[in-house]
Amino acid sequence: MNKKFVASCPICQGESLKKLTTCKDYFMSNEEFNLYKCSDCGFVLTENVPQENEIGRYYQSDTYISHSNTNKGLMNKVYHVVRNYMMAKKTSLAKKSTGLEKGELLDVGAGIGLFASKMRSKGWNVQGIEPSKAARLTAKELYGLDLYDQSLWQDLPSESKDLITLWHVLEHLPNLNESWEAFFRVLKPTGKLIIAVPNSRSFDANHYGADWAAYDVPRHIWHFNAKTMQQIALKHGFRVIKTLPMPFDGFYISMMTEKNLKHNLPIIKGSWIGFRGYLKALRDKDNSSSLIYVLQKI
Ligand SMILES: [Zn+2]
Repeated sequence: MNKKFVASCPICQGESLKKLTTCKDYFMSNEEFNLYKCSDCGFVLTENVPQENEIGRYYQSDTYISHSNTNKGLMNKVYHVVRNYMMAKKTSLAKKSTGLEKGELLDVGAGIGLFASKMRSKGWNVQGIEPSKAARLTAKELYGLDLYDQSLWQDLPSESKDLITLWHVLEHLPNLNESWEAFFRVLKPTGKLIIAVPNSRSFDANHYGADWAAYDVPRHIWHFNAKTMQQIALKHGFRVIKTLPMPFDGFYISMMTEKNLKHNLPIIKGSWIGFRGYLKALRDKDNSSSLIYVLQKI
């Protein structure tokens, strides 16, 4: 299999990447992948990720939850309740951070189009990019929404969007710097960029170490924290204007980790770790399992 070897840090170009730990793909392949950390800036990445034409099979499970609407099992039910709550939060954040009731939205990694269709129903002009054909078809079936593959980027006019959103997507994108360049080009000077990603410095990440489910190798290539997010934003002419915790992600990720480890009572144990992380994140959002960053051009 062709694997992509990252020789230098995509943020600072440093060439001293040191092995941090080994993670297992619990979700799909049971293969192991190594995480490497840049000695210069601290950025963490998954090394030897399968190439773009082969990564598809690591997503090929009808349970990859963001691409599906499955409601089977207690954990999926919990996920869906939380997802509906978060959807309301996301649409309100979109309006609040742009200061607009309606505008031009690009949702990158739109999945089955839930957020995009919610925003459309609120009067926004919506375009969405989603590489999975199955997910695009589901979006069409469920919401009558036309999503596009990555080739849409080249058709998007410069400075045409009020808002670009990536809900748990940036960590999946193989061409990290090129993606940021595209965000900069397509966003209006006054536009906002909203990025939600797992926080590798969170309480639950520290607690579970290499087994933390949000490392999700090899699907997650880049592992951000507040510091490395600021660094890459700055590199591409953005600054973080707001950081918000995502309190419920810690419950879900912890339950998932307990389940992956085949521990007894995964929901109870995971909830307990999620709850402890939730309390800690109330005092310091850096403990939050995931973080939402609102960015604008410098
Ligand atoms: Zn670096």
